[in-house]
Amino acid sequence: MIEMYGVTKVYPGGQVALKDISFKIAKGEFVFVVGPSGAGKSTLIKLLFREELPTKGQIFFAGKNITRMKRREIPYLRRRIGIVFQDFRLLPDKTVYENIAFAMQVVEASNRDIKKRVPYVLERVGLSHKAKARPSELSGGEQQRVALARAIVNNPDVLVADEPTGNLDPDTSRDIMNLLDDINKMGTTLVVASHARELVDSMKKRVIRLEEGSLVSDEERGLYINET
Ligand code: ADP
Ligand code: ADP
Repeated sequence: MIEMYGVTKVYPGGQVALKDISFKIAKGEFVFVVGPSGAGKSTLIKLLFREELPTKGQIFFAGKNITRMKRREIPYLRRRIGIVFQDFRLLPDKTVYENIAFAMQVVEASNRDIKKRVPYVLERVGLSHKAKARPSELSGGEQQRVALARAIVNNPDVLVADEPTGNLDPDTSRDIMNLLDDINKMGTTLVVASHARELVDSMKKRVIRLEEGSLVSDEERGLYINET
């Protein structure tokens, strides 16, 4: 589903964010990307949905080289990737329902499909009863559930999340991780950048570890800190 070959990212100021990174993620996998602050996690996530281009190397999504993708093809890529951030990024003036519906309107879904699909994803994240609330009336965990619902509403192949529990307390963080696990079990490939050491360890998923831009370990059922 995702392949990176020899990917290096140097930002315009000369900051080297990633150095010669290679890995493959198969359809249906759940992969954590871990490492200290500044290790390159966010940069790696941004490369996946072509928010940034690599300085060197190739990135493939579903067999297509996205580093060579034309500008007009990018919306097609982004439709196949759902994205969640640490800070939720909901539209403050829209209700929960409208926030999610908006993601479908952007891709020109029919009103009929929107009316069927939005209640379904709200149910999946356990927020049917908050459909009419605005983001400011919700807890952090609820806001992240809305962001998750929005990210999966167009049924993406891959869900990428950049520190999805970074602003949440431990119990809420666990709920969100369990929800990500449920989404993965329904068939969506998950790539999650995370600092949450205990959570990552408890999930027993594949862990890719970055340090100063280099991939230092990649293990099935890995731990946040690999001590072998
Ligand atoms: P992480 O997500 O692991 O904290 P980042 O990918 O955000 O790491 O950052 C990796 C390195 O690249 C850091 O040294 C950071 O300061 C730098 N960096 C990130 N984004 C930019 C940018 N837009 N311009 C310049 N340097 C950047
Ligand atoms: P995170 O680690 O959660 O991604 P950061 O504080 O590293 O958050 O980055 C916040 C934003 O600032 C990102 O969009 C990143 O691209 C940008 N950024 C990070 N480091 C730099 C830098 N050294 N120069 C310019 N922009 C940067």
